Amino acid sequence: MRSDLFEVVANYTYDWESWFLPDGRVRWINPAVERMTGFTVEECLAMADYPLEIVHAEDRPALRNLLKSALRGTSGNDVEFRICRQDGETGWAAVSWQPMRGSNGKRLGIRTSVRDISWRKNAEEALRLAKADAERANQTKSRFLAAASHDLRQPMQAISMYVAALSSRALDAASQEILDDIRLCLVSGNELLEDLVDISRLDAGVVIPEFASVAIADLFELMEKSFQREAEERKIDLRFVLCSLFVRSDPIILGRILQNLVSNALRYTRKGRILVGCRRRGGMLILEVRDTGIGIPPDETERIFEEFYQIDNAARDGRRGVGLGLAIVRRQSALLGASVSVRSNPGKGSSFAITLPLADGRDAAPVPATRGSDLDLKGRAIAVLDDEPRQLRALQRFLSVRNAHVIPARSISEILTKLDDASPQPDLIITDYRLEAGSTGAAAISAVRSKIGRSVPAIILTGDTEPRRIAEAEASGFRLLHKPVDPEGLIETIAQMLAEH
Ligand code: ADP
Repeated sequence: MRSDLFEVVANYTYDWESWFLPDGRVRWINPAVERMTGFTVEECLAMADYPLEIVHAEDRPALRNLLKSALRGTSGNDVEFRICRQDGETGWAAVSWQPMRGSNGKRLGIRTSVRDISWRKNAEEALRLAKADAERANQTKSRFLAAASHDLRQPMQAISMYVAALSSRALDAASQEILDDIRLCLVSGNELLEDLVDISRLDAGVVIPEFASVAIADLFELMEKSFQREAEERKIDLRFVLCSLFVRSDPIILGRILQNLVSNALRYTRKGRILVGCRRRGGMLILEVRDTGIGIPPDETERIFEEFYQIDNAARDGRRGVGLGLAIVRRQSALLGASVSVRSNPGKGSSFAITLPLADGRDAAPVPATRGSDLDLKGRAIAVLDDEPRQLRALQRFLSVRNAHVIPARSISEILTKLDDASPQPDLIITDYRLEAGSTGAAAISAVRSKIGRSVPAIILTGDTEPRRIAEAEASGFRLLHKPVDPEGLIETIAQMLAEH
């Protein structure tokens, strides 16, 4: 009676149960086998090699070993394998096993219990596929963005150069006004492109921070110079609280982070004040930018750090920036080992905080000042290479306006021929990174240097925003400027390089 009862219970067990005798022959199987495999108990009992006939061929050796070890007395749980169902479908299962002994201690064999895990495996697979799909889509998006910004940078670069050349001429009032408008458009276009390049460079891992002690006072002084005028014009009280502490950081990157936060505070504050200050907490320094602006709703404080995310700017009003600033801030902070956080009270204001490690100020690095030089290139010869005729012309004109003697060329062979003539030897080479027929600016520089037997300074301009390409250009070891190069930045770099040599 009791054994009858146990058999009924065993027959109703949901998992697929088997009892193997100590010699390995199957003694009993419960009906759940049919639900999981499609084979009836009778069909299974009639198999010459039960249960391996139901196991997927690739998993059969492992299962055979498992059964052998079970017969030697081992036990175990949740070993996964595939089953071949009677209808030809493959399913997933997990087996647990243990030895059985009777009440008198006699070995009765082993019991295996198999659970159907197909649904979990299918869900995992669907998740894996969806993730792979999302990654592919993300890569396609990055490539598309890199290609689009690359193509856009070329004309922007040329326009910047033409505008700079035109600015140095005497224009009538109406033309001057148009030129000013063009300049404004250029500024916002360049801002977008610069942001895209920043993101690409950060993602490519080519931005390597140079850590030093940075005096917060220097940083504040620089910010004050950059923003005080705008704040006064807009009647906003912008204050930097005196601070004598130092942090361990990269002064340029930290400066850019702070610049971004202060410029946002100005952008999103109509009246009131902006307070930039710092306080010490343990070995850390918390740098804070507090404003009395429009504020950020609590459910948006995470999303504002996403690329292109802006609150209430569905129409993408260009005057509002493009929504990349905080995405860059987050990446730059990660690079510096700093964290950014935000607290806000909608309608009352926001407070952005960066937490940075304190330093003692012994090897304090100067915070680079903003640039702005008026360089005269009289008596200087500059070799300029670009396979794009319009780009070349724009660069040529830009440099000629500053009295440089320009030696323009569209290819390596052309520049080498030109250097054969009685032309002056170049003091500097400026070249595009991608030249025609797959040759590169790096190759052009080597060719020119070996031709004139001198290691002239060289600048490579690149319009690439694709992380891999940037890394490649950066690895060439020359001074790299990203297009569109703002004219002032280019002049600044030229001045620096000529002075260094
Ligand atoms: P952008 O300022 O170019 O739109 P950001 O990435 O710098 O892009 O900021 C994303 C969004 O976060 C902004 O569009 C704005 O809605 C919100 N935001 C950022 N800073 C502030 C601030 N100080 N006060 C209110 N909102 C802000």
